[in-house]
Amino acid sequence: MQAYPLTLVNHLKRARAFFPHKQIVSKLKAGVFRYTYRDFTGRVAQLADALRALGIAEGDRVGTLAWNSYRHLELYYAVPCMGAVLHTANLRLPRDQIAYIINHAEDKILFLDEDVLPLVEGLSLTSVRNFVVMLSDPNAAMPKSSLVPAHNYEDLLRNSSADFEFPELDEHMPAGICYTSGTTGEPKGVVYSHRGLSLHSLALCLPDTFALSERDTVMPIVSMFHVNAWGMPYAATMIGAKQVYAGPHPDCKTFAELIQKERVTLTSAVPSVWIAMLAELERAHYDISSLRTIASGGSAVPPSLIAAYERKFGVPIVHAWGMTEISPLATVSRLTTAMENWSEENKLRQRAKQGLLIPGLEMSVVDGQGREVPWDGRQSGELLIRGPWVADGYYKGQQFTDGWLHTGDVVTVDEHGFMQIVDRTKDLIKSGGEWISSVTLENTIMAHPKVLEAAVIAVAHERWQERPLACVVPKPEFRDMITKEEILEMLRSQFPEWWLPDEIVFIEEVPKTSVGKFDKKVLRERFKDIRLDE
Ligand code: AMP
Repeated sequence: MQAYPLTLVNHLKRARAFFPHKQIVSKLKAGVFRYTYRDFTGRVAQLADALRALGIAEGDRVGTLAWNSYRHLELYYAVPCMGAVLHTANLRLPRDQIAYIINHAEDKILFLDEDVLPLVEGLSLTSVRNFVVMLSDPNAAMPKSSLVPAHNYEDLLRNSSADFEFPELDEHMPAGICYTSGTTGEPKGVVYSHRGLSLHSLALCLPDTFALSERDTVMPIVSMFHVNAWGMPYAATMIGAKQVYAGPHPDCKTFAELIQKERVTLTSAVPSVWIAMLAELERAHYDISSLRTIASGGSAVPPSLIAAYERKFGVPIVHAWGMTEISPLATVSRLTTAMENWSEENKLRQRAKQGLLIPGLEMSVVDGQGREVPWDGRQSGELLIRGPWVADGYYKGQQFTDGWLHTGDVVTVDEHGFMQIVDRTKDLIKSGGEWISSVTLENTIMAHPKVLEAAVIAVAHERWQERPLACVVPKPEFRDMITKEEILEMLRSQFPEWWLPDEIVFIEEVPKTSVGKFDKKVLRERFKDIRLDE
């Protein structure tokens, strides 16, 4: 067979040749911007030409601090296709971490959305030589700023040629870099190759993963600064799907309106977004009948949430698991033929698991001594993964020498091969030498009809070393009408007494990380001195 390179340039060529009239829709402050793949590919070539003119060479890192938009998509292709490396920096990180990752990646140029300007001013950036501002109104004048030199994105494109010839690239060349959200220590950079992103795009299109098709209208809600919005923009461009981007500071109303107006068929986000969206969809009437699939990942999806979307809107939430280090997709939970005759309750329970490994990857579950754990749905161990879109180390950091990514996720695998996350190694609660799964407890609490969100954390305990504390957010309409005893009563029917939280605190909101996951670190700090009864 030919050693034909798998590069993102192939996506561009395909989009231009086969889907010139398909649309990309992008909400801006001023209104909705809409153009075709033909215009898109032309502007990508102009942008690549502009990058070359600004001195960007093969292997240079190009940073972005930007929301989900058509220009961010242009950068997704122009940067790697001209041989450079796209660093999508997370604009929700604390300022010192933003500076850290841009300096660590040694970004030579930084593209930023206009409203991010105040965030960047005052950052001590050691490698950036040029700033490029993406104005919300493309025809407006450049705002005054201390960033020098600062270029207007549209001016750069206007002065560049759409005849730019993309170079021949090796498929192993780096295409992108993304830093993990850094729950412990400094953020760590993961480098994605052209080959990895190409294979990951194909994997997203498989029928038992997300079945992306030309017929889809895809709206990635997950941020483009977080693991390439789960690779959806790449897969959607490759396959020629219509794409929709919600723009700066998006909220649930915007998402719901775009789903209705653009007839979105596939969308993706973390469960906390789906929890908030449910409230919006119940508050006002939207026609979301176009949706065929809601992809949920990043943290465990409560079965009650899957059931609510199914019952109220007839839309399936498809649960997936992944990591920044895996580009990110690794498992998807779709029922197999063996489960067709199961009860509805068992089907729901199965769909709430993290699911089956997708083709192309390999997994192993090992105990503390490195021995394989049997796939019986009960015994747990750490999940290891390897495959062509799995990182082999961190940028300028630790390399994974045994050929496996050690995920830090503690899982069981049932006899059907469905993986279920019991916990993060660091989130498990060890009480008197026995493990309690915080994820299982919080999922059960979130099934209570009066509960909006719940997070369970370990609190130090003199006798048992650690005991569970449940932090519960009631639904607004039940704020003063829910008791600890009600929750304990529900848990008591499903768990042994020693699993029950020693204390339940009602809080306003579960703090979220920069990518919308429950931030247990903040809760652990807040409740570290809470006294639990002996
Ligand atoms: P990140 O690299 O920031 O996306 O974080 C990856 C981690 O998020 C994984 O190692 C899991 O602990 C967690 N995670 C991702 N997807 C899921 C999921 N579907 N259910 C539970 N945890 C998840």
